[in-house]
Amino acid sequence: MRDNISLIETPPMNCSKCRREAIIYQRYSGMHLCSEHFTDSVESRVKREIRKHHWIEHGDTIGVALSGGKDSTSLLHFLIKTFGHRPDITILAITIDEGIAGYRDLSETEVIARRYGVPWHTASFAEEYGTTLDGIVAGQGGDDRRSCSFCGVLRRRLVNRIARENGCTKLAFGFNLDDEAQSVMMNVLRGDTERLTMTQRDNPGMIPRIRPFAVIPEREVALYAHLHVGSLADHGCPYAHNALRGDVRRLLNEYTWQHPATKFAVRTLGKEMQGRSTGPVLTPEICPKCGEPAFGTCRTCAVLDEVKQDKRT
Ligand code: SF4
Repeated sequence: MRDNISLIETPPMNCSKCRREAIIYQRYSGMHLCSEHFTDSVESRVKREIRKHHWIEHGDTIGVALSGGKDSTSLLHFLIKTFGHRPDITILAITIDEGIAGYRDLSETEVIARRYGVPWHTASFAEEYGTTLDGIVAGQGGDDRRSCSFCGVLRRRLVNRIARENGCTKLAFGFNLDDEAQSVMMNVLRGDTERLTMTQRDNPGMIPRIRPFAVIPEREVALYAHLHVGSLADHGCPYAHNALRGDVRRLLNEYTWQHPATKFAVRTLGKEMQGRSTGPVLTPEICPKCGEPAFGTCRTCAVLDEVKQDKRT
């Protein structure tokens, strides 16, 4: 697939920094990089992003949302490498089982958490909500077009609760630059000005989220994982096929081939738009029904009510 990064093909090129053999060409920077300087390039940008936002501070307990894929496993690797020696910082892993047949294998994530020596906590939709994502899709007559919306809302609530109950002060997600740019573009294509311009507000029950890899293109995260984490199982979610995100990914990759800085520009646009809403500002509340933090109508309860309705019809 076309992207703003190309693995080196024959003839071999030399690293722009040290003249050793390069393993990657960053089209947006014009640099050929060897393994060592590529790793430096990724890690220094991630560290800069963490410093800029004060994302990791003295005394933090960081819960890493660990799916077992390349993004979250690379993030866990990076955090352990960078902060694992600090006695004032605790790192743990949290895995959510959505209940998607053939997709999530908890034994694989447990092995990853063990390899990095971090406590591993898990929870499932089945135990928490009394249903699975497969069950929800079945309740919709097999129509899976809204599966990602349901999944995202239910997963966010559950991972937040598990993080809070385990004393986390930050919740770290492995979202990469492509994920970020795709989210902005999806809101643009839907004409969703509310989401584009909304103000991110604190709610005491919601653990602050950090996304240290948000400045790293997806294929660079994949290469970082290949170099430092090793091979990972990639089961692929069966509901990912018809998501708008897939179309937007293709569109952005094609355009970025011609204009290598596009994904960075789209992410910046998204950040610039945030907080510009002139609508009413929602106050943080506790949902009277489920007791979890919410802004306005509790989206989790709204999804669960809809799911129950589907079961009755
Ligand atoms: Fe959930 Fe959609 Fe991701 Fe599958 S692709 S895990 S349904 S958000």
